[in-house]
Amino acid sequence: MNNPAYLKNALPGVLQLAPYQPGMPLEELQRRLGVKDAIKLASNENPLGASPAVCEMLAATARGELSRYPDGGGFRLKKKLAAYHGVDADCITLGNGSNDLLEFVSRVFLGPGRAALFSQYAFAVYSIATQAQNAEAIVVPALPRDHASMPMGHDLEGFARELRDDVAAVFIANPNNPTGTWLAPEQIEAFLEEVPEQVVVVLDEAYFDYQAPALRTDSRALLSRYPNLLVTRTFSKVYGLASLRVGYGLSHPSLADLLNRVRQPFNNNSLALLAAELALEDQDFVRKSVELNTRELARMTAEVHALGLKTLPSQANFLTIDFGRDASPIHQGLLERGVIVRPMGSYKMPDFIRVSIGTGEENSRFINTLKDILKMSSGA
Ligand SMILES: *Cc1c(COP(=O)(O)O)cnc(C)c1O
Repeated sequence: MNNPAYLKNALPGVLQLAPYQPGMPLEELQRRLGVKDAIKLASNENPLGASPAVCEMLAATARGELSRYPDGGGFRLKKKLAAYHGVDADCITLGNGSNDLLEFVSRVFLGPGRAALFSQYAFAVYSIATQAQNAEAIVVPALPRDHASMPMGHDLEGFARELRDDVAAVFIANPNNPTGTWLAPEQIEAFLEEVPEQVVVVLDEAYFDYQAPALRTDSRALLSRYPNLLVTRTFSKVYGLASLRVGYGLSHPSLADLLNRVRQPFNNNSLALLAAELALEDQDFVRKSVELNTRELARMTAEVHALGLKTLPSQANFLTIDFGRDASPIHQGLLERGVIVRPMGSYKMPDFIRVSIGTGEENSRFINTLKDILKMSSGA
């Protein structure tokens, strides 16, 4: 079975796909090193866990819910999200993580002869969702590495220049992963003005809550003006529910209707739906998580700069460090010392490492370990 016959029938885009590389699981590294105190700062997860209300509910209800199908319409969660965002419930599409929304877009709008537009160094799922549909990916060069204010950020003027007739979808991450860079509201609005109405623009706001309020784009206000806009949000980051897989889209009802047609009817399980409802109500937990992140991101940035290293500007829950040379020995050194961070080779950024902002203790462990490694490699 080295070359099964059905391979030649697989869509060319799928054959050329490089699978998404998840971060190494903590247990795996602990097993390899034979230690119990390794830490994981590799997947932009919430170091505080999830709201205590969610954890209690899961323990209490798991037994009774397992045999029943979930509410396929996500009625209660949608109602709460609608109230939270001040939109009608029919503007909402629920996803199994916000990644699901990106796939809905590709399934509805992309295919052979169609193209999707996104930035170099953008979130990996945009190219996977595009290629899997056998559509063409137009990758817009990012701003240069030495750009004064937003190194390696999205270049929306470049996006506008690439809007060919066959472009059916545009993916914008704000803030972007893996760079942490963001766009000003005026830039986003100017771009939306240029986009033909038949092109769907996805504004991926997975890190919205971590952004300083003054830098945020009021995407909800844009929704009423641009029926071709889809805003995506997730419960995976600041709400701390990455394992349960809940994300959603906000859009004009007719766009939501199209996306819902390709959605699996039970794409969110019952416990995930309940957890998301409770998590949404616990805005205290969100505030606490954001405060920790804001404080620790500033401290980590200062400490990394004090080591003579550069960082990309970040408004997210991670920091992307520029080592100015191949960072894989650093990544390896961190791993050997029980610290998992994300190497950037698969993003074609081999000189960089992305470190998620953890608790104060985890971040100090990262900084001290990095110091040790740098000292050793400079022969001091
Ligand atoms: C983490 C992340 C997501 C969220 O993915 P989920 O499927 O909701 O867990 C979406 N977009 C970007 C840019 C991300 O970094």
